[in-house]
Amino acid sequence: MEEKQYLLLPGPTPVPPVVLRGLAKPMINHRGPEFKELFTELTEGLKEVFRTENDVIIFPSAGTGGMEAAVANFISPGEKVLVVSIGNFGDRFAEICRRFGAAVDKIDFPWGTAADADVLADRIKKDTKEEIKAVFVTHNETSTGVTNDLPKLRKALGDHPALFIVDSVSGLGAMELETDAWNLDVVVAGSQKSFMIPPGLSFVSVSKRAWDAAEKCTNARYYWDIMAARKYAEKGQTPYTPALPQLTGLAESIKMIKSEGLPNIITRHRRLRDMVRAGVRAMGLELLAADEVSSTAVTAVLAPPGIEADTIRSTLRERFNVVVAGGQNQLKNKIFRIGHLGYVRELDILAVLAALEMSLAVCGYQVNLGQGVRAAQEILLKS
Ligand code: PLP
Repeated sequence: MEEKQYLLLPGPTPVPPVVLRGLAKPMINHRGPEFKELFTELTEGLKEVFRTENDVIIFPSAGTGGMEAAVANFISPGEKVLVVSIGNFGDRFAEICRRFGAAVDKIDFPWGTAADADVLADRIKKDTKEEIKAVFVTHNETSTGVTNDLPKLRKALGDHPALFIVDSVSGLGAMELETDAWNLDVVVAGSQKSFMIPPGLSFVSVSKRAWDAAEKCTNARYYWDIMAARKYAEKGQTPYTPALPQLTGLAESIKMIKSEGLPNIITRHRRLRDMVRAGVRAMGLELLAADEVSSTAVTAVLAPPGIEADTIRSTLRERFNVVVAGGQNQLKNKIFRIGHLGYVRELDILAVLAALEMSLAVCGYQVNLGQGVRAAQEILLKS
């Protein structure tokens, strides 16, 4: 029998049993009436989660595929774009734009901080000829556990006509996101985070303005052609064979999301974040992100002086079967990241904090066993 594992990554996240059963359904004809019904149910469900009347296109791909679609369809070679980066995934957006021939201007903020809307507003004001065609922003920067203030950043554009394109692969469903109310032209999400299904689907919402840009876009695309996806969507189909098991899994996950209700889901994620932060602090460890910008999906914890983050991670895994993520690039071996999004509940967090205390003790760090767990329990009891 397989051992029970606590998978506390910021993706892939644990898959609920009902979704696993959804993934195991028999194949159907993707050009038949059953599929049309499923497709309609899914796109309507996704629109509710995205909080939008815009179209939401499903690609059989990793989240990065959704990011690529968000570049290839809306930006033509030579066009100017502005990428706001606060970490690894902001950098990835800039790199994708470069590879598709865009003239990339990038604003970098220190890893562990959020983007400053005033800096963005200044840069936008300087573009008096309105040459910038799109601004790319990461909603929740998974590499640092920092969430950007999207409404503020959107407002920084003022009347500038640039498209506002958002990577919310690890944000949507774990925190507030209002596609229409916040006027977000393109939003990218992925299956293996708050949607609680395995990796392999990306979702891209497209505003009217973004569709207009897609029609004029000269970049080469076939697999990522969002216009083809829209054309087929009109008849309840996809341009090529869809990832059917993922879609029947998604149907179950959307039912779960609707039954818990988005506001409750967001409150739960806040509570999980607060429990993790209180618990880790009570152990005397430092957090990378300040409270005001801290993510409700993932928390980055600094390893204490003299102990490598990866030693803590391997102790957690080998002794207690708890899996957390490591640091990326400049934060490699300096932090570890506890994912708390999707099918994660309060008692999972208590278990992980208990394992963390014991792992720290094994690694030679002075910790009072129970202190972190207690701090988290207190948050839970008060909520
Ligand atoms: N964007 C963000 C914010 C992410 O967290 C991730 C994955 O962790 C991605 C994009 C890329 O998703 P994928 O690894 O599925 O390509």
